[in-house]
Amino acid sequence: MPVLVINCGSSSIKYKLYGSEPENVLAGGIIEGVGEKRHRHHHAAGGREFTSELNVGDYRQGVAAIVRALVERGSPPPISNAAEIAGVGHRVVHGGDRFSESVVIDRSVIEEVESLGALAPLHNPANLAGIRAARDLLPGAVGVAVFDTAFFATLPPHAYRYAVPEQWWRDFGVRRYGFHGISHRYLAERAAGLLDNPGPNLVTLHLGAGASACAIRDGQAVDTSMGMTPLEGLVMGTRSGDIDPAVVFHLLEAGLPASEIRRGLLREGGLLGLSGVSSDFRRVARHARAGDGGAALAVEAFAHRVRRYLGAFMAQAAPCDGVIFSGGIGENSQEVRSLVLLGLETLGLVVDPDRNRGEGERRISTDGSPVDIMVIPTDEESLIATDTARLVSDHHS
Ligand code: ADP
Repeated sequence: MPVLVINCGSSSIKYKLYGSEPENVLAGGIIEGVGEKRHRHHHAAGGREFTSELNVGDYRQGVAAIVRALVERGSPPPISNAAEIAGVGHRVVHGGDRFSESVVIDRSVIEEVESLGALAPLHNPANLAGIRAARDLLPGAVGVAVFDTAFFATLPPHAYRYAVPEQWWRDFGVRRYGFHGISHRYLAERAAGLLDNPGPNLVTLHLGAGASACAIRDGQAVDTSMGMTPLEGLVMGTRSGDIDPAVVFHLLEAGLPASEIRRGLLREGGLLGLSGVSSDFRRVARHARAGDGGAALAVEAFAHRVRRYLGAFMAQAAPCDGVIFSGGIGENSQEVRSLVLLGLETLGLVVDPDRNRGEGERRISTDGSPVDIMVIPTDEESLIATDTARLVSDHHS
């Protein structure tokens, strides 16, 4: 029962085709530059890789190219007919307070995701375009929406409400929703297995181009660093994360247009803003090592913010069983993990330097550390595939 997972971003489509088990990846790839001038399609199947330049003007053409590649590329291709695809799982960024779990897509789901577009103008329209394309091109497959916000449905009101006039919440939906929920849920479930504890108390740190922290109690999210939008919280590649909201009035009153402030906070802030070098952590760290003061500041500020949330969220998740590092930076940067964890033995976090230097999924705390510290590479697609396979089989039964 092959299941296709589709993740339509603001200008790319990532996908993976799974066989009967979520570990069984049959093919995968990415189309970059959707709707832009240059598009490239990387596709891998059966141990072979294909790269082609395509004319992909929109998401529908992109999904059509993916389906074509799945039935044509590889020896033999993973499927011989598009009709073999039983389910299509879509990552949907914003489920508002309407969706607390993954759902089979029907017309009403599409309408509701559409109505949430105002809360996620960059993401939900792209996700919807992918959903519509898959419904047209794979009419026999069951579509499933897996929401990035759903894992945070368990946040109590005192964690998700901002201390602002109640009317803002009622009339404009101003509250914390949280994002990266698919990753944090994957990490929570994986850690539960590794710790042999079905309901662990955790702090999960997803540190990639976007970055967020999550406090988990009994396996359920109780707090997150991301807010009404993915701008709040940690320092990210180009996003500022937390700032004093009065900065916005200050800049408006100083004459900066709202569009420029928005760009500064979303596109020109974060590691890029602090370093003046790049939004890519690896590049920033390289410049820092070469003596660039701005780049060094960016690395330190990134780790400082993670550390601030780690302390706060260990309190929310107390007594904490585990701290999980993930995402491109969390998985790969020994330096960031060291900076974040330095001197926190009194919080029960005792790092083993050799384990911290290693690679892949592993514990990086000492055997005697009161709190387990782990690196777990995230795998959002496998979680989407698992939910999709389950809902497809429920749908047919
Ligand atoms: P996304 O949020 O787009 O999925 P990733 O989780 O892939 O992003 O993380 C991308 C970030 O991870 C980039 O800032 C990149 O520089 C950083 N990164 C990737 N590999 C390494 C590495 N070996 N060391 C340090 N940082 C890394």
